This record gives sequence, structure tokens and C-alpha cells, in this order.
Amino acid sequence: PKVLVYQDGMNAQDLGKLLHREPAEIVKKLFMLGMMVNQNQSLDKDAIELLATDYGIEAKEKENVNVSDIDKFFNEEEHNTDYQESRPPVVTIMGHVDHGKTTLLDYLRHSHITAGEAGGITQAIGAYQLKHGDQTITFLDTPGHAAFTAMRARGADITDVTVLVVAADDGVMPQTVEAIDHAKAAGTPIIVAVNKIDKPNANPQHVKEHLMNYGLVPEDFGGDTIFVDISAKNGTNVDELLNMILLQSEVLELKANPKQNGAGSVVEARLDKGKGPVATLLVQQGTLHVGDPIVVGDTFGRVRTMTNENGKDIKDAKPSTPVEITGLNDVPEAGDRFIVFNNEKTARAAGEERAKESQIEERKQNNRVTLDNLFDSMKQEDMKQVNVIIKADVQGSVEALAGSLKKIDVEGVKVNVIHASVGAVNESDVALAEASNAIIIGFNVRPTPQAKTQAETDKVDIRLYQVIYNAIDDVEAAMKGMLDPTY
Ligand code: GDP
Repeated sequence: PKVLVYQDGMNAQDLGKLLHREPAEIVKKLFMLGMMVNQNQSLDKDAIELLATDYGIEAKEKENVNVSDIDKFFNEEEHNTDYQESRPPVVTIMGHVDHGKTTLLDYLRHSHITAGEAGGITQAIGAYQLKHGDQTITFLDTPGHAAFTAMRARGADITDVTVLVVAADDGVMPQTVEAIDHAKAAGTPIIVAVNKIDKPNANPQHVKEHLMNYGLVPEDFGGDTIFVDISAKNGTNVDELLNMILLQSEVLELKANPKQNGAGSVVEARLDKGKGPVATLLVQQGTLHVGDPIVVGDTFGRVRTMTNENGKDIKDAKPSTPVEITGLNDVPEAGDRFIVFNNEKTARAAGEERAKESQIEERKQNNRVTLDNLFDSMKQEDMKQVNVIIKADVQGSVEALAGSLKKIDVEGVKVNVIHASVGAVNESDVALAEASNAIIIGFNVRPTPQAKTQAETDKVDIRLYQVIYNAIDDVEAAMKGMLDPTY
């Protein structure tokens, strides 16, 4: 490093890590500079600066981590681009129920376990990596867009590529369309796996044609969406699908800096009777090591054990690697972010501060866009568009509403329909609204009880109408700051 960003009170071990030197070497160096210390002894500012100067490095004291600012800290770590290496893609599989997501994940898992690892007991930890040729791909083992979007709502954008599974005998179904919109809202490219081509009534061509209505145009029709016909059950063309995932990833030029403190997101977490809190983490930046002091969401600890999906102990995990860790003092939530701190004291302080902060977070949810605060939000947050989700009883109404809402233009701010479909307002709609700060408009439909509860918790605004004109009028009035408040 050219600059040593240190904290008062660090010891030779901490400094060794930062300087990429053995702690013993640091101790020796300090001895030569006239200081007799052991590896664990705290050093004062003067000592650290003297040491840095001796290495020819500029020393800068880290501002006493303003722990309430941990998100900023996280982002700085995340964007540390001094050094970059390619990393494997992280893939999520989505699609309509029964179209073959689980079958595909299982096939991939079982066909690609390397012989050396077969001894271990494979466990479902929410994610796994497989080798294809000399390359690696990380799969999130939590199919379904609700999980995907719930994580995004908590701030974790972890998917690089979405594989959309569509059964060739069933075609495009409501959750297929939902999945497309969720992937689009997250900004990930979509690869279509047309599944079940072994079935006699499979019609992959029909799936292709139908998906063009949703902006997924295959290459042979002049578009840029990759389609692969597969049978997840028999494994037909699954290797080709992996090739295509790698091809798509190459275009994305996925990179990360493995030489910084580890940072990433929680994939899943649970309380184990024997081991205590257990969390599956996806490393997104830096390298995570056993022993690292870590803050995970509102909790903290030290990485006590770290295992891969085969239950094998590993010492270090680089970007895009999923690992299961123990050593936290509480169970975090899926989608929480984690970051490694240089010493346990700051990690603890940050963790405790975050726990307090999460109450503030809850209050922050009140900033979520609603029709009532739309005008103010537009002004305060310099919004360029108003995100809306439309649910209606029949397709004709969906289209009429979407068409009219898209035409609204208030001083250059437009309505962006991120999802529109037939059916009750469901949990997945609420999750998408939460993640994308959208308002839900229902026409002649109601929310499901679960969606209603979730919307109340997440402060997502659901508006129900029986007259299309009223819906359009309300949105426009709200954007102009002229909506009559509802009490
Ligand atoms: P999910 O709900 O999307 O996870 O779907 P599943 O993976 O559970 O698959 C639903 C059903 O379709 C199961 O009975 C599978 O055996 C079957 N299935 C999945 N893929 C294929 C396939 O490629 N060919 C055939 N014939 N059946 C399949």
C-alpha cells in the first residue's frame, strides 16, 4: 500500500495485515526503532507513524469510524478499485412454479461435484459453486423472485445473471412475467432456459415468440437475449447453458478487489442448537478469513469457523464465494450486508451502534414513496420517474391503466410501470415495490392478507380503485401536489 490507514491502538498483528507483512517482522522493526512490544500490544499513533515512515509509507489515521456511517464505510470498501481481479458470476434461477428451477439446481449440483470433494456431506447452505471447464460459477440456491427481491429490498444486489426457466410444455405464465420484471428492476441480464424439451408436447418455439412481447428477443430474431433449450431432468444442453452463462458474464467484466477487507451479503441465516448463529455469506469484495472481526447487519462477532457448501473447512474466501460461518452473537437476516473490521473493538462498537440504528432505519421507511407524499418526494429526492406496479382483474384493464399512466408527464417527471399483471396484489408485488420504491395500484382487485400485512410493515402504499379514471387522476394530482389527503 502507498497509504496506511490506521487506527490508534492497533497492534502489530493488525498492522501486519494492513501492510501485508508478518506480525513478527513488524515487532522486529519496532524493536529496531527502539520499541519493545509483543504482537498483541496496542501501539500509539506516534509508534504507528514512525513505523510507516520507516516502510516509506504515508500514515493516515482513520477517522474514528463514525459507526452510524457504516453504510458509507461499506460503500467505500466496496468501491475500492486500486486493484481488481476477475470474479465468478453469481447466478439466480427464476421462473414460474413447477417449470423446473429446483430440478435444474439439483442437476447442476450433482453433476458437477468434483471427485475430491465427494467425501464431504453436501449441505444446502443457500448457494454453491461449481466448476465448468476451468471456470467457476456461483449459484444462489434460493429459487424464486420473492427471495431475490426481498434481499434487494434490504440492500443486497448480489445477482449478476438471471436464468429464467420456462417450461416448453406450459409456456409463459404469470410468475414468468413477474420474474422478468423483478430481474429487469434489478438490472440483471436474463438468459432464458426453455426447459422440459424432452416432453412430447414441448413447444420451445412458442415460448420464444411469446417472450418477445416482454422484450426478450432471441438472437435469431435480431435481439440479444440468449435462449437455450434444455431438459433439466435429463441434463440435455445444460453444459451449453453454463457456456452461455460464462459468455454473458464475460461481457459484464465482473471484477472485485480481493486484497481488501471482506465485504458482502447474507444469503441465509439460522440458529443452530449446537453451533449458535450460522450464516451463509456471499463474499462480494475483498477476502474473508477465519478470525476476522465482522459486522453483519445489526450483529457482530469474529469468524470462528468457515466452511464451503461441501462442509469442508476453508481459511479464506475470495469474491463470489459462498461460505457458511459461525461466531456471530446473533442471527442476521437474508440480505443484510457484512463487512470486516480491522479489530474486534470497532466491530463490536459498530455492531451495537447498528442495532440502535435499525430503529432509525425503521423510521426512515416513512420516506417511502406514497401518493400522499409523492409531490414532496419528487422535490426532495429529485425523482426523475415515479415507479408504479399495476394489478387488475382483467388484461384489458391492465393495459388501459398502464397506457394512460405512462402518458402522464408532470414537468418532465413520468410514470414508470415496473410491473403490470392480472391478479390480486401479492407478496411478491409488495417486495418489488419495497425494493424499487414503487406505489401499487390495484384495479378491481384486493391485496392477499399476507400482502396486506407485509405492506403495512414495509410502509408500501397500495391504492385500490374501481374506476380507471380515478386512478389516473389521483396519480396525476399527487404528482402535482394537488391530491386531497385521505384521512
Ligand atoms: P420448480 O417449482 O420450478 O422448482 O419446479 P421443479 O424443479 O420442482 O419441477 C416440477 C416438476 O417438473 C417435477 O416433477 C420435475 O420432475 C419436472 N421437471 C423438471 N424439469 C423437467 C424436464 O426437463 N423434463 C421433464 N419431463 N420434467 C421436468
